[in-house]
Formats: sequence, structure tokens, C-alpha cells
Amino acid sequence: MTTSFNRLVILDFEATCQPGTPPTPQEIIEFPSVLIDLREEGFIDEFESFVRPVHHPQLSEFCTELTSIRQEDVASAPVFSEVFDRHLAWLQGHHLLGGEDPGVIVTCGDWDLSTMLPVQCRASERSIAEVPRIYRRWINIKKIFSKTRRGAKAFGMPTMLSNLGLELVGRHHRGIDDCRNIARMAQALAAVGASFEVTTSLSPSRYPPLPLVLARGEQRRHVNLSKRALPTLLGLASGAFRDSIAEARTLDGALVDDELLAELPSGSQLEVASKRDLAARAGAETPPE
Ligand code: AMP
Ligand code: MG
Ligand code: MG
Repeated sequence: MTTSFNRLVILDFEATCQPGTPPTPQEIIEFPSVLIDLREEGFIDEFESFVRPVHHPQLSEFCTELTSIRQEDVASAPVFSEVFDRHLAWLQGHHLLGGEDPGVIVTCGDWDLSTMLPVQCRASERSIAEVPRIYRRWINIKKIFSKTRRGAKAFGMPTMLSNLGLELVGRHHRGIDDCRNIARMAQALAAVGASFEVTTSLSPSRYPPLPLVLARGEQRRHVNLSKRALPTLLGLASGAFRDSIAEARTLDGALVDDELLAELPSGSQLEVASKRDLAARAGAETPPE
């Protein structure tokens, strides 16, 4: 089922950089968001913070030139974990995490949430698997743009703005200005009928290995699932029980699929079964004629 969202949280990270490949690990230096409600055609609120990089605390001249973010801006800023918790509290304060009118994060491209957030979480010793779901599935506005403006290529923010008849306001590559411009694009796209549905989810390969207990009848196997994808789980279970495992269920009977795997807590127990197990069970349940 697809849901069209009305409340959009625009997010655009800026990060440490240099000409060519970025420093390792690359770290977030600005964490901004703009909240808009498409029904009210207006800005609701903004969140804005610089972030102090700890692995490479000194910004390159190139980075300051690109983003306009200066050494003194980040030197006195809180570290990522603290800013992330504040951002989450801000989302909660606006009741965006669930309920009848949840919000969704909108980014320009997939880099912010598919690459930068997992890299930053690892660098800050936070598990990406444990960040709330709102940060793990999002709307890439480039995809909404391409769908709505058939034929127009979504190269970058300046091109998309100009295609929509909008001026670039503020400083491109300053996170808060980028957010405001993305927000204006979202409103312009909504005005010509675009609907805002999730376009992208965090790739299973970005999650850390997941420890699980697999149960088959009386047998138990402790395993580490390297990738949260059903074929990987079934392959691992087949190896562990030396048989062709066809399905897995949680203890309350829910059939495991990729979406369920993304939310599964570490150490969960799953009941697995081969086709033969399932046939035998079905036979046992059918009373003889
Ligand atoms: P953006 O949202 O487009 O401003 O870019 C986000 C981050 O990507 C920046 O803060 C930089 O870390 C990196 N980045 C963007 N453009 C470049 C570039 N031309 N060269 C190196 N890094 C870049
Ligand atoms: Mg960006
Ligand atoms: Mg930016």
C-alpha cells in the first residue's frame, strides 16, 4: 500500500569534504530541516544546528568555500549524537513519527540517508538499525520531479528550480538554504499535482549483522544475518539446518519478509520450516477421511 504524505520534513546534510574523495569517515557538519504542510502551503517550522566533526575536526578551505561553514561555526557546536537526539525530539514534538498524520523525510538525491547517515552513525558508534524508521525510508525529490515533469532530467537543485520557474534563494550548499529551496520545489510540484510517496528505503547491506536464533522443531541455531533480505535469511537457515528452508515466521506467526527484517530486534527468535515440514504439518492438521 502506498501512502501520500502531507507533512514533509526536508533534510539536507552538509559534511566534511575536500577536492575529490571525502575524508574517511566523512562527518556531518550541518544538520538542518524545514517542516512544511502541503495542505497549508506554508512553512511550519525549522530545525538548524551545526555539528562538530571529531575524526577530522579541521575543516578544509575547500569545504568552507563550498558550504560557507567556517571553522568557528563547528568548533563550538555539539557533536552528532547530541544533535541527532535533538532532531528526533523536534520530530516527536511535531508528532511526525506516527499516528494519523505522520511525516516523511524529503531529500534531494539519496546520499543524505542512504550513505551519510549510516556512515555518521558508524563513526558515532550508534547503530543505524536502531534509528527510528522515519530516517530509514524517505522521498527523493528528484524522483518526484522526474515523474511529474516528464522528460526533464533531475540533474541538480539549480536545474530543477529553474525548470519549475523558481529562483535559487540563499547560498547553494548551505544546508538550511538548500532545505528552504527543496521545500519551495516540493510546494511547486504539489501545486501541479505531484503526490509524495516513499521512493527509497535504506539498503539491507547498510545494516550491521543481525544475531538471530533460528528454531526448527526442537532444534536451535544461533546465526548472524549479514544482510536483512529474505533470500539471505533462507540461505543461512538452509545452511544451518542442512535442508532447504522455505519460510520463516516470528513467534507470533507473522511471515518474515524484507520489511519485517528491517525492524527485527537483535537476538529475535524465528521459526523456520522446509516445504516438507509445511506439508507434514498440513497433513497432520487434515483429519483422515
Ligand atoms: P549538497 O547538499 O549538494 O550541498 O552537498 C552535501 C555535501 O556533499 C557537501 O557538504 C559536501 O560534503 C559534499 N559535496 C557537494 N558538492 C561537492 C563537490 N563539488 N566536491 C566535493 N564534495 C561535495
Ligand atoms: Mg544535499
Ligand atoms: Mg546541501
